[in-house]
Amino acid sequence: MITAELQTAAYLFASVLFILSLGGLSSQESAKRGVLYGMIGMALAIAFTVLGLGEGVGMDAYSYIGGAIAIASVIGIFVARKVEMTGMPQLVAILHSFVGLAAVLVGYGSYIDHMEHMTPDKMEAVAHSIHLVEVFIGVFIGMITFIGSIIAWGKLDGKIRSKPLILPARHAINGLMILACFVLGYLFCVAETMQDGMLYLYIMTAIATYIGFMMVMAIGGADMPVVVSMLNSYSGWAAAAAGFMLGNDLLIVTGALVGSSGAILSIIMCEAMNRSFISVISGGFGDAPVASGDRVVEGEVTATTHSETAALLNEASSIVIVPGYGMAVAKAQYPIYDMVQRLQKKGKKVSFAIHPVAGRLPGHMNVLLAEANVSYDIVLEMEEVNPDLPETDVVMVIGANDIVNPGALDDKSSPIYGMPVIEAWNAKQVIVMKRSMATGYAGVQNPLFFKDNTDMLYGDAKDSVDKINSELN
Ligand code: NDP
Repeated sequence: MITAELQTAAYLFASVLFILSLGGLSSQESAKRGVLYGMIGMALAIAFTVLGLGEGVGMDAYSYIGGAIAIASVIGIFVARKVEMTGMPQLVAILHSFVGLAAVLVGYGSYIDHMEHMTPDKMEAVAHSIHLVEVFIGVFIGMITFIGSIIAWGKLDGKIRSKPLILPARHAINGLMILACFVLGYLFCVAETMQDGMLYLYIMTAIATYIGFMMVMAIGGADMPVVVSMLNSYSGWAAAAAGFMLGNDLLIVTGALVGSSGAILSIIMCEAMNRSFISVISGGFGDAPVASGDRVVEGEVTATTHSETAALLNEASSIVIVPGYGMAVAKAQYPIYDMVQRLQKKGKKVSFAIHPVAGRLPGHMNVLLAEANVSYDIVLEMEEVNPDLPETDVVMVIGANDIVNPGALDDKSSPIYGMPVIEAWNAKQVIVMKRSMATGYAGVQNPLFFKDNTDMLYGDAKDSVDKINSELN
C-alpha cells in the first residue's frame, strides 16, 4: 500500500522520536514529553509496518492484525489504568517477558518459513547461514528473557522467595550448558533437514529455559534492581534479534536502543550498589558471595508516639526524610508534602535523601515525590546527603528498611553487604516509621532499629504522617 522509500523515511523518523524519547526520560521535568515522543514513534512504527506489508497480503491478514491490535489496546488500557504504583515493577517485568516470548515465536516461525521455502542449491549460501545464526541467537536470548522475566515477576510480587537459590557445582553446570549451546548452534547451522534443525532448536530452548530460570533464581533480593534493568536490556537485544530475523531495520534500531540503555542503567545500578556488573549479569555464573543474612540482632527497641515526634520536629532545625518502599505502599507522599510545607514555613531546613534502589523500581521515590509536587531542589541523592548527616537534627525514615541498614557496611554474612546505604544513624535523632519489626525486601534484620538514637513510630506511614501533621502547630 505504500512504497518502500516512504516506509524507510517513516522508520527513520520513528527512530529519531525514540532517541528523543530516551533523552526526555533522563530527567523528571521532560519525562512526560519523552513518553509522548515514544508513543508517537511507536504509533508511526506500527502504522507503517502494517501498511508496508506489501502486495499479496489479503484483507484477511489486515483484519487479523486489526483485531489483535484492538484486543491488545483494550487489555493495555485496562491494565495501565488499574495498576497501582506499587505494582509497576511486576508489570514491567511481565512486559519484558512478552518481548522475550515474541522473539522465541518469531525465531521458530521464521525458521520454519525459511526452511519450507529452501531449495538445495540455496542451502550453501552465506545468507542462509546468517539467517540460521540469527534464529539461534534470537531464540536463545528470547527464551532467557522470557523465563528470567517471569521469575523476576514472581520475586517482585512475593510469589517466589527473594533469597538466592544457589546450586552446588553451579559454575560447572552453567559452563557445560553454555558449551552445549555452542555445539547445538553449530549442529543447527549444518543440519540437512528441518526435522534435525528443529530438534537442536528444541534442546537449546530447554537449556535457555534452565539458564533464564537459574540466572534470576540465583540472585538475592538486594541485587534485584540490577536484574530488572538487565532484563530490560535483554528484552531490547531480543527485539533486535527479532528485527534481524524479520529483516526489519526499525526493530533492530529500537531493540539496540533499549538494549544499550538498559545495559547503561544496569552499570549505573551496579556502581550505586557496589556490585560487580559481570558477576550480577551472569547471575548464577558469577562469584557473588553466598550470604545467609541470618545474623540475629539483639537489643532494646524504643517506641515513640506521634505527639513526641511532632514535638521533636518542632524543636529541630534540620530534618532529612528517607523514603522507601513503605511510602509507596501507604501512598504517604501527599501528607509528607504537606508536612514538608508546614516545617518549611517554620523556617526548618528539610530535604529528602534518595537511595538509588529505594522502592522497587529505579527512580521509584523520585516519581512518587514528583507526583505529590515536592520541589526537585530538595530531593537529594544519597551521596550528597551522607556527609551532612552528623549535623542533622532528625532523620525520618519513612517506610524504608534495607537502604538504611548499617549491616550493609559491617556484616559480611548479610546479602546486602557492600551496598552503600543512607547512614541515618549518624544523625542526632532517628525516627523510623513502619508497621512492625518486619524485615525489608532482602529479608535481613536491621540493627538501626536497636540504636540508642533511634525511636520506632509504628503504624501505616500515611496514617502516622497525618497524625504528626495534625500536631505540628
Ligand atoms: P524495603 O523493602 O527494604 O522495606 C520497606 C519497609 O516498608 C518494610 O520493612 C515494611 O515494614 C515497610 N512498610 C510496608 N508497608 C508500609 C506501610 N503501609 N506503612 C509503613 N511502612 C510500611 O524497602 P527499601 O525501599 O528500604 O529498599 C528497597 C529494597 O528493594 C532493596 O532491598 C532493593 O534492593 C530492593 N529492590 C529494589 C528495586 C529497585 O529498582 N529500586 C527492584 C527490586 C528490589 P513493615 O512491614 O514493618 O511496615
